[in-house]
Amino acid sequence: MITKIVTITDKTNVNDEELREAAEILRSGGLVAFPTETVYGLGANALDETAAKKIYEAKGRPSDNPLIAHISCMEELPALVKEIPEAGRKLAEKYWPGPLTMIFPKKAVVPYGTTGGLDTVAVRMPSDPVANRLIRLAGVPVAAPSANTSGRPSPTKAEHVIEDMNGKIEMIIDGGEVGIGVESTIVDVSGKVPTLLRPGAITMEMLEETLGKVEVDPAILGPVSGNVRPKAPGMKYRHYAPQAEMTLVEGDMQAVVEYINREAKAAKAAGRKVGIICTEESRSCYPEGILEVIGSREHEETVAHNLFAVLREFDERQVDCIFSESFSRDRLGQAIMNRLCKAAGYHIVEV
Ligand code: AMP
Ligand code: MG
Repeated sequence: MITKIVTITDKTNVNDEELREAAEILRSGGLVAFPTETVYGLGANALDETAAKKIYEAKGRPSDNPLIAHISCMEELPALVKEIPEAGRKLAEKYWPGPLTMIFPKKAVVPYGTTGGLDTVAVRMPSDPVANRLIRLAGVPVAAPSANTSGRPSPTKAEHVIEDMNGKIEMIIDGGEVGIGVESTIVDVSGKVPTLLRPGAITMEMLEETLGKVEVDPAILGPVSGNVRPKAPGMKYRHYAPQAEMTLVEGDMQAVVEYINREAKAAKAAGRKVGIICTEESRSCYPEGILEVIGSREHEETVAHNLFAVLREFDERQVDCIFSESFSRDRLGQAIMNRLCKAAGYHIVEV
């Protein structure tokens, strides 16, 4: 298949003509990758089981890992969900459109092929002007997981999508770099107490401010063993992983730098190519290895924004091992550490 690439001329003033063909592809059961404010999504008609199946094929994604249905405005929600619980209403009012996904009881019209066999459906309303307009023009809810090969770091630029999806899907819309860089926060509002299933840019602190009590799914905090079925099924798979083995180093900054330098030196002596994930503040502390600056500790949004691109960069440079600094788990740090822990396969060293 030849993948058509459409470049958006002006994101701040989207021209519908640039999106019409993409909308038509989505309506007729094809696949289109497009930018959102979180990461690039791989879209298909969420109500069309055959179209959803193509997403799983293109990504190599296990079919019990459910998809998120994207809508463009509140009026499109009732068609998909049986009820909108109070918590869902409050969060929608405050954070939609935006990087927040909520789990609702699904209506029959949403096929099990989209929800991975579950009776609930995950819904998000993206704020990115290209994503939002495309969904509106398509006139159908759009299932859109990240537009990467399953297991690889999520795409935050069109080039990443081209790497993974060229020749496998009908169209890629190039809208430049995404803003946030990590996937949406997921909250289950279908039960008694709202539960955080995946941390993102809408932080735990923000959710609690709006809802009061919020529970945290244990899958966020650590690896899920093979015999439990987590609430957010995607949680059980290895994610965001670079090709090299990665070690996340936690502790006092001085000790972290010393540990990484010692390990980098030993690895280099053993003939291995070493990658180091550092920050603006620590970039001058590492004499050995290939450095990637993930962002500034002063501005955590920069760390989220660059995280996946840095992991892909190490794939490109074919390093054998990666050592990464850690971050606090407050606010956006919870999402950053969740992605880094998964990328490292929970290989964490405390110093
Ligand atoms: P993404 O990987 O961004 O496409 O997000 C999909 C993730 O959303 C899945 O891996 C699940 O963790 C979560 N998810 C989607 N639908 C549901 C659902 N109905 N119930 C619980 N989690 C869901
Ligand atoms: Mg993904």
